[in-house]
This record gives sequence, C-alpha cells and structure tokens, in this order.
Amino acid sequence: MEAISFPQNTRQVTRHMAEKRGRGRPRGFGTAPGDFKDRFQKFYYEHRARLNDGRRILYEERKAKGLCVRCGKKTVQKSVFCRHHLDLSRQYNRN
Ligand SMILES: [Zn+2]
Repeated sequence: MEAISFPQNTRQVTRHMAEKRGRGRPRGFGTAPGDFKDRFQKFYYEHRARLNDGRRILYEERKAKGLCVRCGKKTVQKSVFCRHHLDLSRQYNRN
C-alpha cells in the first residue's frame, strides 16, 4: 500500500513546487542579471510591507502592555518609553 501511495505523493509535491517556482521565474534557471535584480526588488517589496506591519503591531502590543516600544522594558508612567529611552527622547526634543 505504501509503495503505491508514495509515487503519487511525490508527483503531487513536485507539481506543487514546480507551480510555486514557475510563478517567480518564468524563464527558468538560466536567469540574466536583469531578472535577478527584478526578483530581489520584488522580494524586498513584499517583505517591506510585512516588516512595516510587524513593527506597527509590535508598537501597539508593547504600548498596551506598558512596555517600552523601543526595547520592551517597563515604561515610566504615562509614557511609551522606559527610563532610558524617555531620557533619550527628552534630550532629542530639547534641541
Ligand atoms: Zn527602552
């Protein structure tokens, strides 16, 4: 039974991977430098959106828990920063 189901499984996985790869590189493995650059730009674009989202969520999460949004330590009262980062931001605003 396993000997029969294994080849079917492999074919499914292979086809799935082929579809996944085919989306990103329509010309195959022999990519020109121009294509390479494109793929990196696409990769960066997708990740930048996710990274920005992650940072925003982290900020809101820490704010709600009363932790410094910069480092995650306990905040000073009525602030989103810890003692250290509150001092830093005050110094920064003084100029
Ligand atoms: Zn901090």
